Amino acid sequence: MTVLVAGASRGIGFEFARQYRADGRRVVATARDEEGLRKLQALGCETLPLDVTDAASVAGLGWRTDGEQFEVAIVNAGVYGPRTDGLQPPSQDDFDLVMRTNVLGPMRVLAALQESLPRGARVIVLSSAMGSIGQRAGASGWLYRASKAAANSVLKDASMVLGSRGVSCIAVHPGWVQTDMGGAGATLPPERSVADLRRLIANLTPEDNGRFYSHDGSTIPW
Ligand code: NDP
Repeated sequence: MTVLVAGASRGIGFEFARQYRADGRRVVATARDEEGLRKLQALGCETLPLDVTDAASVAGLGWRTDGEQFEVAIVNAGVYGPRTDGLQPPSQDDFDLVMRTNVLGPMRVLAALQESLPRGARVIVLSSAMGSIGQRAGASGWLYRASKAAANSVLKDASMVLGSRGVSCIAVHPGWVQTDMGGAGATLPPERSVADLRRLIANLTPEDNGRFYSHDGSTIPW
């Protein structure tokens, strides 16, 4: 089985690469700088440079993976942006960066990979419960929430297109994870979050296509 992890230099993405390698899987992992690529090579991953905000970089991912077949593709790269409370509009620059990374990024990556996903493949987009409109609790991180709600829409449409080819696409909430983004107070070690998510991925069936799951297997409303 070959696994692709897009955005694997640290945090949850790195942990996915580490655990799948420890399991003996072939892992193709991406990072946007040399340091990240070297860390992944030390795990035995094959590596590709990728910055999801750069169209040429994602086009490079497309041609480098042409002819590859990924049974699991994890679209992980993401940024949080300004840590606001309440209704503080972001600057234009913050808006552009967060939306380009969290929304345009998955659009580009999914489009580039679509011919590399065989029947039975699983596509996972790292979303967040903060992106759920049906289950809102607070308005911190206004821009991040909007970006993940939009990423959910991106995943849902991908599930319509790819589901008809036998590919299962889901959005996942990894929990509040102890990474740079999760910050102080995060409750879940990345090892646990990723172990949960790998179990969820392993047990996916075609009926799961187009759903939004928490790492613990519960369904989250869109
Ligand atoms: P981190 O901030 O720890 O890591 C983010 C990863 O995304 C890094 O590998 C980073 O690479 C990569 N990345 C950021 N921008 C780009 C880009 N333009 N192109 C390619 N890669 C990029 O975050 P986490 O590991 O915590 O989060 C991973 C995913 O899980 C994100 O999508 C996040 O929104 C989601 N999530 C996380 C939660 C948490 O509690 N931690 C909760 C809910 C969702 P680089 O090292 O180059 O910056």
